[in-house]
Amino acid sequence: MNLAADMDHPTAGGVVIQGLQKSYRVGGRSFEALQEISLTVASRSFTSLVGPSGCGKSTLLRILCDLEAFDGGRVEIDGCPPHLLRQRHAIGLALQDPALLPWRTVRRNISLPLELARERVSSAVVDELIALVELEHFADARPAQLSGGMRQRVAIARALISNPQLLLLDEPFGALDEMTRQRLNLELLRIWTERPTTTVLVTHSMQEAVFLADQVVVMSGRPGTILAVRSVDLPRPRTVSVLRSPEFHAICDELLEKLFSGGTRAQPVEETVG
Ligand code: ADP
Ligand code: MG
Repeated sequence: MNLAADMDHPTAGGVVIQGLQKSYRVGGRSFEALQEISLTVASRSFTSLVGPSGCGKSTLLRILCDLEAFDGGRVEIDGCPPHLLRQRHAIGLALQDPALLPWRTVRRNISLPLELARERVSSAVVDELIALVELEHFADARPAQLSGGMRQRVAIARALISNPQLLLLDEPFGALDEMTRQRLNLELLRIWTERPTTTVLVTHSMQEAVFLADQVVVMSGRPGTILAVRSVDLPRPRTVSVLRSPEFHAICDELLEKLFSGGTRAQPVEETVG
């Protein structure tokens, strides 16, 4: 983390959520998707969000990037409401489906958000991001020529093109095989270390959550609430050796216990983590 920058602007890019409420109307009835969510995400820190399927993780991310309205409480990013950040293109988002445009090259997929915002595209900045996600040899390839992991790296580079104050990742590696996931976790860690951005990652892997994060948030469903917020004080830079350390496993076990004790209400067991 860039501590010097943090001291200059202690809240720059940080997220404050207080008493957040969100209900959806389904078939004329209202149901509470998020209940009293309060959470602080420090500037340039990495937060992982885990919880059972349907507990409101994606809803929370969509509220943060102003794709969804909320009913009560306070949400501030760098002291501003989400819509202001969205107007400034200050939020980067990458989802499970990389949603690349098949007729555009890697380079032109990455620059798309700037083009849509009618902002100048600096080819040097695009090149820098392509290098950051290590796709130099594929800059002019089209998505069909890339592996699933490479497409996800394009999506992450695209999320970073506007130099966001907040990076939101909703199960970005969820559709990939385990080996690719592990490699991309290391990649993500390297990318984040090179460009420390306030990041919130939704994942269904507790190992991934703990390995990457400064804090892990465990949610439970129906209605979506926060069960636990655990800071992860494993030393950085984190290497694969962290994955073998007893401290790492102790944190994973502690959080899995919380997840399973609180996240199984009205859920079939196989649906518990997701
Ligand atoms: P998660 O990402 O944790 O799986 P979601 O945020 O997608 O959970 O969903 C939380 C709950 O809200 C679920 O019960 C889901 O069915 C419901 N939900 C999500 N989006 C909508 C929507 N647009 N309209 C109605 N219900 C929704
Ligand atoms: Mg989701």
